[in-house]
Amino acid sequence: MSDIFKSLLGIIGERGVSNTPEELWFYSRDPGVLTPHLPDFVVAPKTTEQIQKVIQLANQEKIPIVPMGNGMALTGLVIPLKGGIVIDMKRMNRVLEVNEKARYAVVEGGTSQGVLKAFLQDHFPHLRHSLPDAPPATTIAANVALHGQGRLTQQYGFNSDMVTGLEVVLPTGEICRIGSPSLGPYWFSKSPSLPDLSGLFLGWLGTTGILTKVGLKLYPNKKMRDVELFVTDRVELVSEILYKLTHLEMLEDINIWFQPMPLVFKDNYHITIYFTGDTEEEIEFKRKMIWDAVQEFIDTKDAGFMGLGYMKGTLLETPQRSLAAFADVPKGGGFEYSGPITLIEFFPQYAAKVIELAKKYQLLYASSARVISGGHSMMFSISFAFNRADSAMMTRVKEALSEATEFALDMGGLPWKPNFVEQKMTLERMDPNTRKLLEMVKKTLDPQGIMNPGNWEVS
Ligand SMILES: Cc1cc2nc3c(=O)[nH]c(=O)nc-3n(C[C@H](O)[C@H](O)[C@H](O)COP(=O)(O)OP(=O)(O)OC[C@H]3O[C@@H](n4cnc5c(N)ncnc54)[C@H](O)[C@@H]3O)c2cc1C
Repeated sequence: MSDIFKSLLGIIGERGVSNTPEELWFYSRDPGVLTPHLPDFVVAPKTTEQIQKVIQLANQEKIPIVPMGNGMALTGLVIPLKGGIVIDMKRMNRVLEVNEKARYAVVEGGTSQGVLKAFLQDHFPHLRHSLPDAPPATTIAANVALHGQGRLTQQYGFNSDMVTGLEVVLPTGEICRIGSPSLGPYWFSKSPSLPDLSGLFLGWLGTTGILTKVGLKLYPNKKMRDVELFVTDRVELVSEILYKLTHLEMLEDINIWFQPMPLVFKDNYHITIYFTGDTEEEIEFKRKMIWDAVQEFIDTKDAGFMGLGYMKGTLLETPQRSLAAFADVPKGGGFEYSGPITLIEFFPQYAAKVIELAKKYQLLYASSARVISGGHSMMFSISFAFNRADSAMMTRVKEALSEATEFALDMGGLPWKPNFVEQKMTLERMDPNTRKLLEMVKKTLDPQGIMNPGNWEVS
């Protein structure tokens, strides 16, 4: 081990390598419910070539590698389940290029959402990217590695659909470019007319390579944003309301949320509708279209718009800090969510399941859903808060989340950013030939099984 440490020092330099107990402790866990596991080393590279050398060393020594952004996926995806080297990507945090007219940015593999947002605000205020509601320190590469969703997902699909090119260090050490940058200097498309190789890396949770550069689509940043809150106590109407709203093809984002506390929210389903415009006229036109689209539910007195008052500022925040308040993080609390991707028509069944699970396991819930790609699907978050000091409660949360995943799979849904247990549940149910294909891909790309082992373990 001390030889490996010396080699890592030689590759990265003293300030970017550690095996001190306090740092290994920090990198052994994430804020979710899974049990921590210590890595052997932590490195924080600054270049793709350093990553390449670390991977070559890991191959030689058959030692695991775990790529890490900000460790906020909540489902233990950066917990080094089999020890090894955690590669903390945060020192590779530059915005390398913005092509204004083709509307794309190229960032390094550890660039945070906050860095890109601030860069665009300063230099290209009329452009933006699809910012998730995750903390600003979370990274863009990690978000596409887990098929994240953001503010523009309702219009344009998963954030990983917005990737325009990748640079990847393969588990065997080669550096590869995917999409238009494999043929020339431009990062405008991940699959202009070529076989789409980005699928070998997106959604694989760092098990098939390390993303060292990501090209990402940018979109117009309109001058104004506004929000309306439509509320119903009839859960069976939610999918119909969403159908009418998505028909408009002009909304920025649609979230649906329900929670038992504070009491004013109990038993109601809140549909937050975001829209943007460059002029007051455009905003008011869109507001009228929204009202017209759902007027029938107002006429039958089944639903209505809620006056927002002080809540408007909170709802317009991007990312939304209020999400973390639910978990009382400053007092040692936390939360975790199972977030299946499913059909909007199943909203009532999922909502009933959350309430049933919260009751069964005596937990506080707060659920939300985000409409994806004009209503082709939604991410339904089954979210429970916990107090880390209460071990019985932690066990109950784990059981509740596991049951939620079983339920989602029974309903034909796809677990999103599943933890390693949920990944196993998913693989067990998968069509055997598809599973075999995954195994072939994984074995070809990572013959030594060193990349984030324990995750997507197909063989
Ligand atoms: C309050 C809150 C709100 C949230 N809201 C959203 C939301 O709106 N939308 C959303 O999508 N998510 C959301 N999340 C979940 C999560 O924080 C995000 O998905 C976030 O993008 C994860 O980024 P990270 O840098 O923390 O990832 P990490 O946890 O560090 O990594 C996630 C996965 O990516 C892999 N990985 C990391 N970097 C690389 C790389 N360079 N190359 C290859 N693999 C890599 C890791 O090994 C791991 O498997 C939220 C979380 C919280 C706590």
